Amino acid sequence: MSTKELCIHLTELHAKSLLNDNDTFLFDCDGVLWNFPDIFTGAVELLNYLTEHGKRLFFVTNNSTKTQDDYAKRFNDIGYKAKPEQIICSAWLTAQHLKSINFKGKCYVVGMSSMKHELEREGFQICGGIGPDPLASDANAIKTDKLELDKDVDCVISALDLHISYIKILKAATYLNRPNVLFLATNDDASLPQSDEIVMPGAGSILASVAAASCRSPTILGKPHRPMFDAICLAFPDVDPKRTVMIGDRVETDIAFGNRQGTKTLLVFTGATSEKYLDTLKQQVEKHTTERDLLPNFCVKDVGQFLQFLKSTEKSTS
Ligand SMILES: [Mg+2]
Repeated sequence: MSTKELCIHLTELHAKSLLNDNDTFLFDCDGVLWNFPDIFTGAVELLNYLTEHGKRLFFVTNNSTKTQDDYAKRFNDIGYKAKPEQIICSAWLTAQHLKSINFKGKCYVVGMSSMKHELEREGFQICGGIGPDPLASDANAIKTDKLELDKDVDCVISALDLHISYIKILKAATYLNRPNVLFLATNDDASLPQSDEIVMPGAGSILASVAAASCRSPTILGKPHRPMFDAICLAFPDVDPKRTVMIGDRVETDIAFGNRQGTKTLLVFTGATSEKYLDTLKQQVEKHTTERDLLPNFCVKDVGQFLQFLKSTEKSTS
């Protein structure tokens, strides 16, 4: 496929084909449906429209700080009746991945309470890492003989952790120094989406510290990596990538994820990717300096315009 057939600006006809030729729609959330707490115009209406037309929706997010139940509540609060199983969040994903490999051991988790909730719900045992683990304020050295380390840890999981500390990195790296300890990461997003000048480090920034200290490379579970799609297919075996659309705002995660799994991809310009950036990427792909997986099949201003195209198609054919 040449780049001319990629990054096509969506029209009513394309919108109609996407509706008719697909039965599953995967949505990223931040930058696509909302910049929370601001919900984008038409977002909830689009979700209800697709559901009323018999489509199955999943919300695929690398955010590990919320559980399936947290997200389902958020959707219900804004006017879309989501079931928890529609939420493919990376905390849930981690538990599903451990289940899929028949893991039976203890986990040290650098992460938030959402990770503990989802892992314990599936029966996994956590031994530390959740919540603050600071040094005493007057400490100027680490007393290694006083560290509380569990001899039975079999897995270290690195996620977004607002309480990240030197001690936590030390413990994670020390456990990973044992060769048979499994190393998982929820995702490797370097930063979080922000609209102002503040830079919010993402799970990838924390992961970089743990990986550097331990000299180990993790299995990364979230978008754009394969385990996220495997978990969806394991839970919902009838999901067919050829009849699936991935809608996202970030080319490196959402669009690469969809393209690599064989879904159609639709990029919106309400988040991480501007039209200008997409044009630059397209030129780089033509010069073979960037992977073509980053280019979506279609792009559209926002989810509201996608809805508008779908509805106007309906009028013109009725
Ligand atoms: Mg996003």
